[in-house]
Amino acid sequence: MGGNYDSVSTALSKSAVPALVLICPFCGPIVLAGSEVPAESLQDARSAVRDVRVLMAMKVERVRLRAPGAISIYNDDDMALGTHAADDWIVVSRDGSGGIRFGASRWKVASIVVQPDPIDTVEVSVYRDGEWSDGNRYPGTLRIIVRDDGGLDVVNAVEVEGYVACVVANEVWPTFETEAYRAQAIAARTFVLQEMLRRNRAEYDVTATQRSQVYRGIRMDEPGQRAREAARYTGGIVLTYRRQGQDRLFCTYYSAACGGMSQSAAIFGRENDIEPLSGGVRCDYCKIAPGKTYRWGPVHLTKQEVRSRLLAKYPKLRSLGEIQEVTVVERTPSGRPVRLRITGSGGESHDMLAERFRLAMGGGEIKSTDFTIRVTGREVIFENGRGFGHGLGLCQWGMQGQALQSKRADEILQYYYPGSKLTRVY
Ligand SMILES: [Zn+2]
Repeated sequence: MGGNYDSVSTALSKSAVPALVLICPFCGPIVLAGSEVPAESLQDARSAVRDVRVLMAMKVERVRLRAPGAISIYNDDDMALGTHAADDWIVVSRDGSGGIRFGASRWKVASIVVQPDPIDTVEVSVYRDGEWSDGNRYPGTLRIIVRDDGGLDVVNAVEVEGYVACVVANEVWPTFETEAYRAQAIAARTFVLQEMLRRNRAEYDVTATQRSQVYRGIRMDEPGQRAREAARYTGGIVLTYRRQGQDRLFCTYYSAACGGMSQSAAIFGRENDIEPLSGGVRCDYCKIAPGKTYRWGPVHLTKQEVRSRLLAKYPKLRSLGEIQEVTVVERTPSGRPVRLRITGSGGESHDMLAERFRLAMGGGEIKSTDFTIRVTGREVIFENGRGFGHGLGLCQWGMQGQALQSKRADEILQYYYPGSKLTRVY
């Protein structure tokens, strides 16, 4: 722990550590009760922390693994199935009789746990659509599960701080300032801890993609090293806000650039209208983002293209026929479109969240929902685009802009999550 955050640990006496109650803008409020609540003491909060379970691959045909030393295989009851030298790739697949084939071995089990020597990492590559993916190195253990449909799911169980370091390395830009790395580490840790508590009884806590946080295992380059330092420096610190007498974790959403003002999570329901995610935070710090990020467009798509991209994700919209009109039917108080109405050639119309529409068009091309939309004879034109991403919570390029102006991580986080504070969980 470094100097800037020492005040957090001294400010929190043992008894001051609160129960953790979760409010997620997408999933609603989740008040944890009984043993799930790391309540009352620092010790309780600490004991609630376990390994994060990251769904790193889903429905793949085959998985291959290698590790510098031997790897041990267990079943779900911790019973040893075998130990294998793994300096060359070992292919794992479903056995014809419903079990798992592991190199030359076969076991009649629906899942296995793969454990490399504790100081080693395991390199994993998956076979999908006719080719092997590049191998990434993962800390912790792997659980490989045979699905009912015959595909394999792979879940990586990794210690929280190791996970945070891996996420930070992929969620910030390599050029970011040290305080930006630290702010990202605290946001990533808060996000994953609240997901872990919320999904305690599920098969996994987070996915490895932008749906949760981007996780590609360990990076050995300089950003990877800086990310590990940021995780270490901020170790155990999360963001909380106070409501009804309790300090609570919340969904610390973040996106690349807000484009001028953050969006409110209240669009996902009134119960999500919590102060740190209430939006309306002004930010032109993200002006420094490269390329067409702070401002983008116009983007011209033919009506045909819009239709086929929509149908690829929402086949039921076929009944709309050709696209006739796309209008904004609901906006945030700051004017960002929330809900769009798509009217088809037959006169039928369908309302959808602007964010869903944007992602169907392609999130890289239509960078945010903060646009004006115009439909001409042949085209749908997205103009006056502002920002990149959903715009909820922390603005990552704004975080870098503020770090360049010598703001500390805690100041940056409290700016983008108003009413929040840093709290030490362990
Ligand atoms: Zn911004």
